[in-house]
This record gives sequence, structure tokens and C-alpha cells, in this order.
Amino acid sequence: MKKNIRNYDLDDLKEELKNLSEKPFRAEQIFSWLYREKVSTFDEMTNLSLDLRKKLQEDYFVGSFQIEHKLVSKDGTKKYLFNVCDDQNNLIETVLMQYHHGFTVCVSSQIGCKMGCKFCASTGIPFMRNLEVGEIVQQIMEIEKDENIRISNIVFMGIGEPLDNFENVMKAIAILNHPKGLNIGARHISISTSGLVPKIYELVDRQLQCTLSISLHSANNETRSSMMPINQTYPIEELMDACRYYIEKTNKRISFEYALAKENNDNIEDAKELVKLLKGMLVHVNLIPINQIEDGNYIKSTNKNILKFRDYLNEHGIVATIRRELGSDINAACGQLRRQNLSEKRGR
Ligand code: SAH
Repeated sequence: MKKNIRNYDLDDLKEELKNLSEKPFRAEQIFSWLYREKVSTFDEMTNLSLDLRKKLQEDYFVGSFQIEHKLVSKDGTKKYLFNVCDDQNNLIETVLMQYHHGFTVCVSSQIGCKMGCKFCASTGIPFMRNLEVGEIVQQIMEIEKDENIRISNIVFMGIGEPLDNFENVMKAIAILNHPKGLNIGARHISISTSGLVPKIYELVDRQLQCTLSISLHSANNETRSSMMPINQTYPIEELMDACRYYIEKTNKRISFEYALAKENNDNIEDAKELVKLLKGMLVHVNLIPINQIEDGNYIKSTNKNILKFRDYLNEHGIVATIRRELGSDINAACGQLRRQNLSEKRGR
């Protein structure tokens, strides 16, 4: 079966070319055609011999998606539903947001998710599979082409748990970040995790330069476990040990995400516990007014409570900001993404 050439980062591509008895610099040429010139066929790679182009064509293909659906929010946010063009015509969602500093894409890392967070719209949809390296990168490439823009920031905050698809996410980042690839600075790429503790240690070992966000949502094990089943495997104490290790070794700030739900985790008592937990650490807290999902038990906090919560944190030495909500009218805001199936889409 032919393999998607986008599944290989530059190091892997050199290996592949070696197996074809070709020199490593050929890999650099191919990489540059794919990500600099953005060609979609081997025929266009005119500095390769006809013979090599033929060999490549026999073993590989250049992956691409089809846009099934594109929704535009009144705030300019755009949500794409892509057909990944695999055997099952699986669909994934990707969101494009515009900020004053440039364009950010919120990418999916899996088809479905295993984490089962109670407040998230991806929950309840069966986990299908990990996205391949090429499929992660393709999300950015398709949007750049469709909108004729350059993406400056990537957040792994779409569907899926990026650290549960660790190797593929690492390789996709290698392609996104490489100067001969899409050349997006590591500091402009952030990974968000529900808290897979062993993988946080692994991020440190790999000396990854990306930004790390932790979905915390409560400083209290009982409340956090009721919202996020993963907390039963890796409770807050273990998560915080990993975070302290990460900060100590990388000297980088961690961003904690905290989705505020009325009378669940938005009282001053909750803020007090959070201050106690994070005091003295190099962190930033991102407060998100929780987005209510269909059949969900969580209700958005009042604006008054959100401001009170933020002010309490700031007054007690924890830097906290409220995340601007984008794309909620097209179900593209935090936690609203879900893998839609065709019948659902047709029914709309
Ligand atoms: N699995 C990863 C990344 C995907 S979710 C993670 O858990 O971090 C991206 C962010 O959206 C996470 O912080 C998640 O907790 C948050 N989120 C999920 N559902 C939400 C909702 N209904 N309202 C607000 N934020 C939500």
C-alpha cells in the first residue's frame, strides 16, 4: 500500500530515501517541495530525476483533504470539517482564529477522544483512531491554501488528547517547526493536555520548546475527578509534581486552563484552593467561561463571578486572564468540537 509522504519528518524521510539507495540531500529537496513550495504531486519536484520521481510515485502519495463544510462565525472565526480521505472518509474539525498578532489554528490530534471529560462535546463520540503525522500537518496546509494566508500559531486544542498520540504529535511538530518545513516557531506552538503525567515527564526529556497548557479546572481532587475521569489515574498531587519538574527543567511558564461552571468550581473557596496550589510557581491561569454543551450538566458562570474569580487570583499573586470566546455561534469555541458524521451534517 502506498504511504503518505507527509507522515515523515525530515529525519525519517532521510531514512526512507536511504532505503531507496538515494542520498540524504534528496530528502531535503523533497521536504522543501512539500512545505516550502507546497506542491501536491511528485511530478512538480523538478530537481529530482525522472527515475526517482517514478520510484516515489510507486511507493508514496502526497496526502490531501477535502473540505466537507466550512462555517464562518460573526467574529471571523472559521470552522472546517475536513474529510481526511481515508478508507472510511473520516471527518475531523479544525478551527481558524484571527488575533491581532496573526492567525491561530486549533488542530485536532485524534478522531474522537478517550478522556471522557464530562463538560466536553467530544465526549460520548467513540474513539476511532489517532491522526497520522501527515493528517495533523495537513490541517494547517489546507487552511493556508484555502484562505491564502500564513498561519503563525498552532494550538493542539481541537478534538483528542495530544499526549495520547505522543509520537505522531512530536513528529508533526518537527515538520511544523522545521525552518525547511512550515517554519512556525516552537514558542508559537502549544500543546494542551488533560494531564497525562508520564508524558509530561517525556516532554521534558525530549527538550520540546513548545508551550504547555494543562487543563486543570479544579484544584480539588473530588471536583476534578467528577469533571475529568483522568484525575482518578493521575490525581492533582502527581500532576503538580510533573508540572514543577517541567518548570524547573525547562524554565518555562505553564498555562493552566480553568473552565468556570456555575456553583461547580467558581466560588471564592475554589479560587482560594487554586491560589494555594499554584502559589510560587511560574504559571499563568487562563479562565474560560464554560461552554454549555447539549445534555451537559454544567452551566456557565455569571460574568460577575468570573471577574471576581479572576480578581481574587490576581490579588493573590497568580496571573490570570479571561479567554475571549471565539466562534461560539458556529460551535467552534472551546470544548464545542465534535467529530460530526455525514448524516448529522445532512440533517442540519
Ligand atoms: N485533550 C486536551 C486538548 C483538547 S480540549 C486537553 O484536555 O487539554 C482543549 C481545551 O478546551 C481544554 O482545556 C478543555 O478542558 C477545554 N474544554 C473542553 N470542553 C470545554 C467546554 N465545554 N467549555 C470550555 N472549555 C472546554
